[in-house]
Amino acid sequence: MDLSVVIPCYNEEESLNELYKRVSAACKAAPIKTYEIILVNDGSHDQTFSLMQNLIALDSHIVAVNLSRNHGHQLALSAGLAEAKGDYIFVLDADLQDPPELLTPMLQRAKTGGIDVVYGQRAVRQGETWFKLFCAHLFYRTLSFLSETTIPENVGDFRLMSRRVLDKLLSMPEQQRFIRGMIAWIGFKQEAFLYERDPRFAGVTKYPFLKLISFAIDAISSFSIRPLRLAIPFAVLGAALAGVLGLGAMYSYFSGGNITGWTSLACIITFFSSLQLLCLALIGEYIGRTYIEVKRRPLFIVSEVLRGQDIVKPKAIEKPKTKPAPKSPAKAKSKV
Ligand code: UDP
Ligand code: MG
Repeated sequence: MDLSVVIPCYNEEESLNELYKRVSAACKAAPIKTYEIILVNDGSHDQTFSLMQNLIALDSHIVAVNLSRNHGHQLALSAGLAEAKGDYIFVLDADLQDPPELLTPMLQRAKTGGIDVVYGQRAVRQGETWFKLFCAHLFYRTLSFLSETTIPENVGDFRLMSRRVLDKLLSMPEQQRFIRGMIAWIGFKQEAFLYERDPRFAGVTKYPFLKLISFAIDAISSFSIRPLRLAIPFAVLGAALAGVLGLGAMYSYFSGGNITGWTSLACIITFFSSLQLLCLALIGEYIGRTYIEVKRRPLFIVSEVLRGQDIVKPKAIEKPKTKPAPKSPAKAKSKV
């Protein structure tokens, strides 16, 4: 297999047929002979899976992976990647924000330059609110400050990768998967490919604000333990403040003044108590994540995998040579 295209889909009934048309045209135009298009149904509540079944009956290149429930974008993508058989793997979203037509130039870049990962980097993001763009910028800044791995800014999961990168990715068993970061961590030759991100073809984003926050926490905690070290600067700050206050109190005492300061004392106690609680919460977050990891549960549960090439078209039903004897009314009655 020359190429596997992997697309996670969650309630994407409005985009699916257009997606199929454009991805399939892009695969036919690309310099490859054999390909498969893996569509992952991530527990959709709409017609997404039945549309996938229709496509399978039409085209033997389609593979539909049906998950047992909604597992979230990163795990749905992992489920699709686990099924991929191609020498190159092309990952994109189902909403057509990442143009499938870039397959050929990305493939050419990978093949001519011997590059393992050609990742799409967004030069322009159309149809996104200023708030989302601001949050994305803040997130990438925080991540690059905290993480030891360099994770490029404005890069999603839209990318082309080689087989050896996918094999390494599949060998990483962690539950909290921030796939773009994991691929950056793997290394080899990686190169950015600037592109314009289109608005969604149809439907609404599947990443509401709270889901984005939890995605950001997943990303930071799976890539850095630096937040745990926050306790150290807080401790230094506390010690310095205590020293200054102690010296001030001694000075007041020896110069015969009255030592007052109920308000400042209350403020200091509440301030440092909240810093302590923050550090405790951070430790709790990492312990919780360690607990989830040590359970070693499977990453996702697949309900079924349908491959277009396995579907045998039903033979025409032969007419019976002899007419079956008509049922006697007495027998028919006894069945009722
Ligand atoms: N997606 C998924 N499971 C989810 C949420 C999203 O498989 O629980 C898929 C979705 O169908 C799309 C991709 O992940 O193909 C990215 O989601 P979306 O376009 O909503 O994210 P955005 O581009 O708004 O960040
Ligand atoms: Mg999208």
